[in-house]
Amino acid sequence: MAIYTRQKNSAGQWRYERVNTGKGRNRANLEPPFYFRHAHDGKRVWTQMRATSLSAAKAEVETVETGLEAQAKGLTVAELAQGDASRLPLKMAIEKFLDLKRSKAPKTVAQYTLVLNQFLGQMRGTVRFVDQVRDDVLDSYKRFLEKEGFAARTIRNRLLIVCFLLKKNGVANSTKLVEMPTIEEEIPDPYTREQLDALFEYLDRGGLKEEKQRYKFFLGSSLREREVMFAEWDDLDFDKGTIRVHGKKDVGFTVKNHESRIVPLPTDLVEALKERYEKRPHDRWIFVSESGKLEGHFLRKLKTLALRAGLNCGRCRTTVTRGSYDHKRRAEVTCKTDNICEQWKLHRFRKTRATRWMENGIPIRNIQKWLGHRSLETTMVYLGLTGVDELRSKIDAA
Ligand SMILES: [Zn+2]
Repeated sequence: MAIYTRQKNSAGQWRYERVNTGKGRNRANLEPPFYFRHAHDGKRVWTQMRATSLSAAKAEVETVETGLEAQAKGLTVAELAQGDASRLPLKMAIEKFLDLKRSKAPKTVAQYTLVLNQFLGQMRGTVRFVDQVRDDVLDSYKRFLEKEGFAARTIRNRLLIVCFLLKKNGVANSTKLVEMPTIEEEIPDPYTREQLDALFEYLDRGGLKEEKQRYKFFLGSSLREREVMFAEWDDLDFDKGTIRVHGKKDVGFTVKNHESRIVPLPTDLVEALKERYEKRPHDRWIFVSESGKLEGHFLRKLKTLALRAGLNCGRCRTTVTRGSYDHKRRAEVTCKTDNICEQWKLHRFRKTRATRWMENGIPIRNIQKWLGHRSLETTMVYLGLTGVDELRSKIDAA
């Protein structure tokens, strides 16, 4: 780090002038105060020193350099002075790790950065070297995440990222150091009548016809998201009240398991589709985006509608990427304020339809065929439990 003084130049302006501290230099006109400059928050800033002689200024600059070096490594000056080269400071390990991962997807890099900085911040300076991160440290991080109310899946993902960091730094079996939260297999849960009534009432109230037709179609047809995306008018048989699901080579659409099928639609949906056909927004596709292209945002639009309708549960939390390309940052949000509620999923329409088929006595082999499942076992897992209210008369009769 160089030392400077302030000198007037020939034009009478004050300038910082670098002091040449090499041997045998003439320093006759060196007058305090002395200055140095260093980077602070991405800017180069000047600092005036207390030193009144050049030798004192040299000593002061050395102290500052040591302090900055310690800061960069996340250590105290004393720890830096102990200087055990075999111990890797945690802060440095994280920076190195993030640098290694820089070519991953921006979303992944942002997530790694958020999690590792959260982990580091959580240690509040008590853990400064990688070799100090043992089972108790991981467990306390886990407890912190639990206290913050994060979902088991999120906690598991964050612990795994810290474990990857340890693994990269030679810690064997890092994932065994902490007991990972168990994640329940997702059990099929259809929408309740109340949920769907509330959604469609909101769409009616707001005159959101297009949105209503879209999600009535998801519900009535049981089709998968991409199957709805590529559903075309030619697939419909208005007389029989069915839709044919099949691959479309020209647009690269294939059906899961390559099994084409014909699915019956409820009569009120067929009627609504007939009406829609008269004023069809696109000659081929049943549903298109506002710009007349294939609709790719069925889910995001559903989640936004649910938020506006006040139908989010209020308990979901996640991290989202905010900001423009250069200023991306991760922010923690809840479904009270953002369209991230886990309750609202396109797949639940499909589960709802399947469960209602079952409840109304449709043979399970038909349901399997209509859902396009290869095995009956998949269909069995798929069907939701019928609610107690719906089963009340049967419970009482049993
Ligand atoms: Zn929610």
